[in-house]
Amino acid sequence: MTPISHMETLAIHAGQSPDPATGAVIPPVYMTSTYAQEHVGVTKGFDYSRTANPTRLALEQCLAALEGLELKQPAYGLAFSSGMAAIDTLLRLIKPGEHVLASNDVYGGTYRLFEHVLKDYGIKFSYIDVSNPNLLENSLLPETRLVWLETPTNPLLKIADILEISRRVKSRSPQILVAVDNTFASPHLQQPLALGADFVVHSTTKYLGGHSDVIGGAIVMKDRASYERLRYLQNAVGAVPGPMDCWLILRGIKTLSLRMERHSTNAVKVSEYLCGHSAVEQVIYPGLDIHPGHEVAKKQMKMFGGMVSVILKGGENAARKMVEATRIFALAESLGGVESLIEVPAAMTHASVAGSPLEVPAGLVRLSVGIENIDDLIADLDNALSGL
Ligand SMILES: *Cc1c(COP(=O)(O)O)cnc(C)c1O
Repeated sequence: MTPISHMETLAIHAGQSPDPATGAVIPPVYMTSTYAQEHVGVTKGFDYSRTANPTRLALEQCLAALEGLELKQPAYGLAFSSGMAAIDTLLRLIKPGEHVLASNDVYGGTYRLFEHVLKDYGIKFSYIDVSNPNLLENSLLPETRLVWLETPTNPLLKIADILEISRRVKSRSPQILVAVDNTFASPHLQQPLALGADFVVHSTTKYLGGHSDVIGGAIVMKDRASYERLRYLQNAVGAVPGPMDCWLILRGIKTLSLRMERHSTNAVKVSEYLCGHSAVEQVIYPGLDIHPGHEVAKKQMKMFGGMVSVILKGGENAARKMVEATRIFALAESLGGVESLIEVPAAMTHASVAGSPLEVPAGLVRLSVGIENIDDLIADLDNALSGL
């Protein structure tokens, strides 16, 4: 058989050949904690579900295929009970005294884990604007062991040049690891491993699951030794997802490409609409040619994704009024589901980073543009903005 080499096909089939026992086309939900052994220590490949579970394995193989698509070698995937569990497990590769250089616009939960949990274990962290590769290169310390990127970032949608940064970091020292949190782009739009990163991390809660009905996380990598170590840590630490959660994420992934394309075309139209509105001060979207990261985004992303941020002329009051006036855009945290969401990061998702290097403008509104009809979405925004 010719190898499958397209995202849309792999999303539906990778890790999911029909069940040999029954012919079931969709991987069953293996709701079992343990597995009968034929003789002492003789198993069919599974002995305990923290270590391995067939539904989880299907998800792990599918995620690896999606992130490894542009590589000439297999990639390896591991699933976790949340995006934070994946990040925490990956950070266990870092030892006391070592340094992590991260984006100054990281996900708030990642910042909290780094600053308020892992710092107590002797790991050092610093935060910089990673859209500037010179600054990044100059900020590497002799003890730097990991560079942590998100691109686009949340909620300011800054773009980091994954290829350029990986090249510079590796030429400084091949020992420094590069990890990319690819949650905002999804593998359909961006494949960091092919651009030189060592690890891709996901909150599968967002675009991969895609339906706001499950919490999950993942790590994908191309190096077998890292995979063996992280699989060991996955089992040793134990933050694994249940089989039903894995099944929901697998089901969501089947439509990833269709969804990402619609999220992106809708977001382009929403950003263009907002650019033309008199109540709007600034629209932040990597697909706009005025965005400082537009050229890099064009180079490393297939489309520009579904997240749009906007600063209103009326500041914080106008922001709060707008998000409470929409009817289709639900006022809620999170992102990446089929439904449109709207929020004020300074008061909601980013309230915990006030006063830190991650503080965001109080008048910023973040939109997770869903896959609904674009005319309905724009009418909803138009109505909300007309009341300001
Ligand atoms: C949501 C999110 C996380 C954390 O994932 P959970 O599944 O909520 O634990 C990490 N990174 C980014 C960019 C996120 O949006």
